[in-house]
Amino acid sequence: MLELNKEATVAERITQITETSFDKPDPWKCTLDPSGTYTTKSMAHLINSLKLGGNALNTTIPRNNLLPQKVFIFIWRAFQKKDTVRYELDKRGIDLDSILCPLCETEIESVEHSLVLCPKSALIWKHILDWWAQDISIISNLNDAIINNQAFALKKHGSSVWQATKWITCYIIWKHRNLKVFSKKVWSLASILSEIQTQSYSWISKRLRKKKSIMWHQWLINPSFFVADPPHRVGIG
Ligand SMILES: [Zn+2]
Repeated sequence: MLELNKEATVAERITQITETSFDKPDPWKCTLDPSGTYTTKSMAHLINSLKLGGNALNTTIPRNNLLPQKVFIFIWRAFQKKDTVRYELDKRGIDLDSILCPLCETEIESVEHSLVLCPKSALIWKHILDWWAQDISIISNLNDAIINNQAFALKKHGSSVWQATKWITCYIIWKHRNLKVFSKKVWSLASILSEIQTQSYSWISKRLRKKKSIMWHQWLINPSFFVADPPHRVGIG
């Protein structure tokens, strides 16, 4: 700690500070990191915590480095049931014309219904699982879509690629639900499936490149090369 001589003149104090400053290391400490030094990682954690409205480090959802941050935030919010589905809005006292799902218009729109159980979403999942040569039974609730990740044996990197594919599927289902609700866009199975394949390839291949390259035609025809023992595939669409 720098202690100035109170009897010194101003000029003497400035000289004392300058000399001391050069002699001693920078006393500033960054409280974001236990080491006391600033790191981009600690700042990223702080920003994530603020964005998510809580402590992102305490979430039970595993990280997935194959996806942009906005997808993780969407998934985290969905898992915490913070997405603005009609059931959740109604619980918060918001007056709505209907709390039925805007896609099937027969069931109450909860997060799980919207992303997994709605017949419109379930059909998307069926095609995604066909594409991965897997049975529809492995995605039967929100946990299966977000958390459970070992329904079938996967090769190296396969687990994170499959998880990323599931999260992108949820993200794009929600995007198209909103397009239908707010922009009156037609729900198109073919265009949603196409967007899931192209978007997942774009995000995943870019981030996986250093570890394993994926060719577009390979991804499109059969991503189950990440699967340890894939059954006979039946394709998508
Ligand atoms: Zn529905």
